[in-house]
Amino acid sequence: MSEVLNAADIFGKNVFNEKVMRQRLPKDVFKKMKKTMEDGAELDPSIAGVVAHAMKEWAIDHGATHYTHWFQPLTGVTAEKHDSFISEPTAEGKVFLEFSGKELIKGEPDASSFPSGGLRATFEARGYTAWDCTSPAFLREDACGVTLCIPTAFCSYKGEALDQKTPLLRSMQAIDAQSLRILRLFGNTTSKRVVPSVGPEQEYFLVDREKYLQRKDLIYAGRTLFGAMPPKGQELEDHYFGAIRDRVGAYMRDLNIELWKLGVTAKTQHNEAAPAQHELAPIYDQVNLAVDHNQMIMETMKKVAGRHGMTCLLHEKPFAGVNGSGKHNNWSLTTDDGINLLSPGDTPHDNIQFLLVLACILKAVDVHADLLRESAADVGNDHRLGANEAPPAIISVFLGDQLEDVIDQLCSTGVATHSKQGGTLQTGVATLPDLDQDVTDRNRTSPFAFTGNKFEFRMVGSSDSVAPANVVLNTIVAEAFKEAADELEKAADFDAAVHDLIKRLFQEHRRVIFNGNGYSDAWVAEAERRGLPNIRSMVDAIPAITTEKAVKLYEEFGVFTRAELESRAEIEYESYSKIINIEARTMIDMAGKQIVPAVVKYTARLADTLNAVRSACPEADASAQKDLLMETSALLAEMKQALNHLIQVTDACSKMESKAQAHAYHDQVVPAMDALRAPADQLEMIVDKELWPFPSYGDLMFEL
Ligand code: ADP
Ligand code: MG
Repeated sequence: MSEVLNAADIFGKNVFNEKVMRQRLPKDVFKKMKKTMEDGAELDPSIAGVVAHAMKEWAIDHGATHYTHWFQPLTGVTAEKHDSFISEPTAEGKVFLEFSGKELIKGEPDASSFPSGGLRATFEARGYTAWDCTSPAFLREDACGVTLCIPTAFCSYKGEALDQKTPLLRSMQAIDAQSLRILRLFGNTTSKRVVPSVGPEQEYFLVDREKYLQRKDLIYAGRTLFGAMPPKGQELEDHYFGAIRDRVGAYMRDLNIELWKLGVTAKTQHNEAAPAQHELAPIYDQVNLAVDHNQMIMETMKKVAGRHGMTCLLHEKPFAGVNGSGKHNNWSLTTDDGINLLSPGDTPHDNIQFLLVLACILKAVDVHADLLRESAADVGNDHRLGANEAPPAIISVFLGDQLEDVIDQLCSTGVATHSKQGGTLQTGVATLPDLDQDVTDRNRTSPFAFTGNKFEFRMVGSSDSVAPANVVLNTIVAEAFKEAADELEKAADFDAAVHDLIKRLFQEHRRVIFNGNGYSDAWVAEAERRGLPNIRSMVDAIPAITTEKAVKLYEEFGVFTRAELESRAEIEYESYSKIINIEARTMIDMAGKQIVPAVVKYTARLADTLNAVRSACPEADASAQKDLLMETSALLAEMKQALNHLIQVTDACSKMESKAQAHAYHDQVVPAMDALRAPADQLEMIVDKELWPFPSYGDLMFEL
């Protein structure tokens, strides 16, 4: 048995949280600090020095030598630059440990190499990181020692957002202001803030590190670019929720400990559908923290895997032929006094505030389906969306029987008089309790599903930040709330006006509701009839963020300027091209230096055997050897031709730029990669396993 572990004792141990602040800050400073965090206001510079000092002392007491402004540039991962606490040595050569208020609040990394999408030239190096005091500082323990990490936003010299956090914080202000208008209309005078609550569920794969290191595709691309399916895949569904293997269990335990120390509420863990695939979900938190914590979860997953001789793959599609990984973004709106705006109560038909909120969300999702789709676009996700494992690239909303019935009543007769109720389930076993049946079943095929008191946006890719999806959700719902509030605040008869508005919104935006099987071909056809967009790839999704509709939306709520949106589109095209280029070059390398030589060796062996058989025994039937040689040689020739073609198109594309380049990679390089992979995978099934140059899918997925 391992030693006794009390999660409550270690939880938040490495966080400069309220408890620590209360202990270490003078009373008046603590009060000001708490108010700043609660109101989301600006930190009073006069207390920054005191806070910084207390933070430093606490960090040093826990062994910290360095501090860093931890931020989220548009690279998909977090960034940090460490500074030690030491001051300039005195004349006697002594140093002090220092950390000023200025250093806490603002940093100035020479950050010229982060993607800016043309917002600044490389020589304009100045960028700023600003402390987001709503996300507490934390200590990270790793091979660097102990580092004090200060969550920050990152912007350019001119204040343009260069990161994920800045627009997220801006979108939180937008949804807060507009939600409060809705609440006030219904007579709520007490709630002071409305904040989105988010719980992102994170899927991941684990593979043995030794095997990982033998595969250049995993090293460079994070996914396999070659690989034939093993005899067994996930068809038995025996991995899903299956017993957790010891090696993985030990990993999960360590991962939880590290996360708890960081104040991350790691809650649920289980095996996922594909072999070697797992999931971790935290308890939901306010969106800004949830986004930071999700980044910490991804980082910690990778670090802890190393300690266990494994590598954690966060790619959306590490293996063809089995499920890939995503991230379910559970989203709701909560007031500071604990009211969930998405809670329908037992009788949603007479919960007018809920129905208005629901109708507004429906409108937002219908009008801005392209933006939501775009928020989930990343290169890896192109392999999932629209395949039979993740929601299709069509945005639709699942509401379930009860709400759909209420909307039916409203749209047909104009009034909703009742709500369907769940019954009692009898299991037929005397010793089992009767179960209360939920009012509606679940639908796992829907990209945007109502699940009781929250919406679950299921499209986000596993390696992606959840910030963009939440920026979109917060802003589009803010817009719908604003338009509703503008209308209702003026109404002479509020009850009649709100009733009419709800009915109208449901009628106008019903087309986006779909409760059926989202994975079926019939839905694709039906969605087309309804005029819903089906945006199949990342390169086709990107233009959504720079349409006039998007610019108007984001500028109105101060979330993005036109220039910031254009820069983001540019960064996305660039990153698409770069990633496909890396994948293509990795394939060229593996095919040319590893697979082709192995197959050549195998054909030589076959030829030798054939000759040997023929000379030893001319009358023996050597047709099997001959057939194998013919088949292998034909596939080898096909492979060589495909390889030459891939080299040629990749070279041509690498000389292009921007949007045209991304489209060229998508239209020419991606199919050329598929064409190279097909014969290689067939060859893997034929060639002697001893000659095959890297571990197979079976080795990677089943032998952990
Ligand atoms: P489900 O079974 O519906 O997926 P879970 O209870 O497993 O629900 O929750 C999945 C994720 O959703 C968790 O991270 C959970 O904390 C989060 N969650 C639960 N309720 C809410 C809510 N009201 N708003 C946002 N997230 C929530
Ligand atoms: Mg879920």
